[in-house]
Amino acid sequence: MPDPLPRPLRVAVVGAGPSGAYLVDALTRHAAEAGVDVLVDVVERLPTPFGLLRYGVAPDHPKIRSLRLVLERALSEPRVRLWADVEVGSHVTAEELLAQSDAVVWALGASADRPLGIPGEDLPGCVSAVEVVGWYCGVPDAGARVAELLRRSREVVVVGAGNVALDVVRILAKGPHALDATDMPLRVLEALDASRVRRVTLLGRRGPAQATFTTKELRELGAIPGAQVVVEDARAALDLPGPAPTRTAERNLAVLREWAARPSDPAVEREVRLRFLTRPLRIVGDGDVTGLEVERNALGADGSISGTGETEVLPAQMVVRAAGSRVTGVPGLPVNEAGTAVPNVGGRVVRDGRAQPGEYVTGWLAHGPVGVIGDAKADANRTAATVLADAAGLLARPAPSGPTLDEVLRGRGRAPLSMADWARIDAAETALGRAHGRERTTLDTREDILAALRGEI
Ligand SMILES: Cc1cc2nc3c(=O)[nH]c(=O)nc-3n(C[C@H](O)[C@H](O)[C@H](O)COP(=O)(O)OP(=O)(O)OC[C@H]3O[C@@H](n4cnc5c(N)ncnc54)[C@H](O)[C@@H]3O)c2cc1C
Repeated sequence: MPDPLPRPLRVAVVGAGPSGAYLVDALTRHAAEAGVDVLVDVVERLPTPFGLLRYGVAPDHPKIRSLRLVLERALSEPRVRLWADVEVGSHVTAEELLAQSDAVVWALGASADRPLGIPGEDLPGCVSAVEVVGWYCGVPDAGARVAELLRRSREVVVVGAGNVALDVVRILAKGPHALDATDMPLRVLEALDASRVRRVTLLGRRGPAQATFTTKELRELGAIPGAQVVVEDARAALDLPGPAPTRTAERNLAVLREWAARPSDPAVEREVRLRFLTRPLRIVGDGDVTGLEVERNALGADGSISGTGETEVLPAQMVVRAAGSRVTGVPGLPVNEAGTAVPNVGGRVVRDGRAQPGEYVTGWLAHGPVGVIGDAKADANRTAATVLADAAGLLARPAPSGPTLDEVLRGRGRAPLSMADWARIDAAETALGRAHGRERTTLDTREDILAALRGEI
């Protein structure tokens, strides 16, 4: 074991999502064997920790959502302190954080909306998957217009062919009370019960073999009670030349062929339509959305797509864009050309072509918005190992002398929330859920969260 270093390594981790929390876990578990004593401040913009595990992973996937307990344990370590409801860039600057830390690890994710770049996107009936998902998962005070749109839409088109698009399609196609057992906020369950949606269409620009969704998630569409899956123009979409590019694509095609062969049931209450090789051109409407103009694409033997000039307008009162996400609001961090990640080597941020010890990234921010929570864990372990490998050099620098986070926030009248506060929110959500016959219910307004902190829920 190496000789212990002279003083604790002060690490600030920004973002308490899966990557940030797994990084904290790896740092605190491996610090001793690296001869380092660590003190970790975790700064989180939202009032509660867990990032997309709480506000992205679908509420009808409770097994994955239960990973919360693992992240909770990591953030509850005695050498770790959570500062939630504090946004870096607004309540504390990146410079202030760097001045009071030996190392800063950015774990901000990359889940900002990516526009489609077509006319009509500014109509109120066109919303991002980020907004819809945030709403049904209970991001405080988010997405109020989604409930209103569901009340007056019969036809919804979701643009995108990844797992996020599938989540949105599945949740919107599930009928009344189908999600009652989940931890969805009460207001969301009420809005889903009042939904008039009868047809949800998933729109993919390329063929089904090029879709990025996974087979398990695809299959779930076929198991929605009262709903039927229709593969539009199945022959053109499924009988494509050449082998499927991956095993997942092969399995997806098998599922789609099975659905395409099923006789249609005119008595079903709701329909899920899957439409591939179709490009959105324009959202149609004057005030309200009335449709989506699309162009049919043709697929080349090399997997490339080109427009055929054949267009039509799909009726829709709500259009959801779910065609990927990007990095946003990163205070002073370099971002790659695609806007999806911060350039880094082994987690060290690369500025002006040089990897800099002292500033690190992990998770979606480091690699772009792809991959599951297991990938975030593996990446967090790698970045934590890099921080610990750099520790001796970082501690050889002068000790951080800037005002502490506590001093900065007190000076600005900002009251951060801690893990003890999370425990109160957690208890209130559990109590509210039990009162409604379910395990827990997410509080989805700041007002309710504050009431829970006062012990009023
Ligand atoms: C809709 C959806 C469904 C998904 N479903 C699954 C699934 O079923 N299974 C699975 O394994 N994976 C799923 N994923 C992927 C999984 O959520 C990601 O792999 C994982 O959340 C990435 O973790 P992260 O910590 O890098 O980013 P995030 O989870 O986005 O966490 C980033 C955190 O940083 C905080 N933050 C951002 N900016 C600031 C700032 N300026 N100051 C302070 N804090 C800030 C954010 O509030 C957030 O808490 C899903 C993703 C989405 C979008």
